[in-house]
Amino acid sequence: MNFKEIIEEIYQKIKSIENKGELASYISELASVDVENFGIHISTIDQNNFGIGNWNDKFSIQSIAKVLSLVLAYRMVGEKIWERLGVEPSGTPFNSLVQLEVDNGIPRNPFINSGAIVISDILLSNLENPKEEFLTFVRSLSNNSELNYSNKVAASEKAIGFRNIALCNFIKSFGNIKNEPADVLDFYFDLCSLEMNCKELSDSFLFLANNGCRIVDNITILTKSQTKRINALMQTCGFYDESGEFAFKVGLPGKSGVGGGIIALHPNQYTIAVWSPKLNKKGNSYKGMRFLEEFTTKSELSIF
Ligand code: GLN
Repeated sequence: MNFKEIIEEIYQKIKSIENKGELASYISELASVDVENFGIHISTIDQNNFGIGNWNDKFSIQSIAKVLSLVLAYRMVGEKIWERLGVEPSGTPFNSLVQLEVDNGIPRNPFINSGAIVISDILLSNLENPKEEFLTFVRSLSNNSELNYSNKVAASEKAIGFRNIALCNFIKSFGNIKNEPADVLDFYFDLCSLEMNCKELSDSFLFLANNGCRIVDNITILTKSQTKRINALMQTCGFYDESGEFAFKVGLPGKSGVGGGIIALHPNQYTIAVWSPKLNKKGNSYKGMRFLEEFTTKSELSIF
């Protein structure tokens, strides 16, 4: 399939439409990002890679990092991980507190903030130097030793992180946070501040399109069954209360972040990263979703 031609055509079209939505200005460092940025990069299993627009510019991957932290925790803890969090779509905004009370502090899934905070707690309990070791893991996935956190973004989020502080303390009251909430939150804000460009993002996720094996050396990151489960969670929970809409319109497992990035993948085919910073009301990239909808329609390739 000639993805390059399809991507070029849709890129030109979506670039010219009205750029609707808002920046995630609640994180002050993200409020100053140029809204005209628009980049795409596809990485394929057969290494037919292609980028267009601002594919080479770094951005804050935010909640997309929740997939990578889950993968590392899943590798370390195995199936016991599901005793601490669920696998159901929440149908609520990413920073919602409401379900935790009825669910006794068990987050519905790992891709809403509450779930990712529990995953951060699990990593804190299992790693000696969580911040360094997580970064080493992500660098190894993307085969890129340049990847890093943004201290500025982490600090600006920490300064206004009242919701996440509330979530962490609330979960702790049910006994589902084992470490000090301040330490868990520091690590969570660091994870969210990871920066990547579209190529680094699509490369990092390629193992999930390759049955859990890294493309460059065929090393197993996750088993086939674990990979299926992570992809299923991305399909059902990757876009918060817009996950159904993303499945309906795009039809691929994926994950978004409030930095305006989206990663989506087609098992055994490719990963595709799109970045456009303006977000719709649900906190997902407006143009990113529009692009991917057209991409799976024109390529006639979705998992459905
Ligand atoms: N760091 C952001 C937060 O906790 C992540 C949210 C997101 O990308 N949806 O609010």
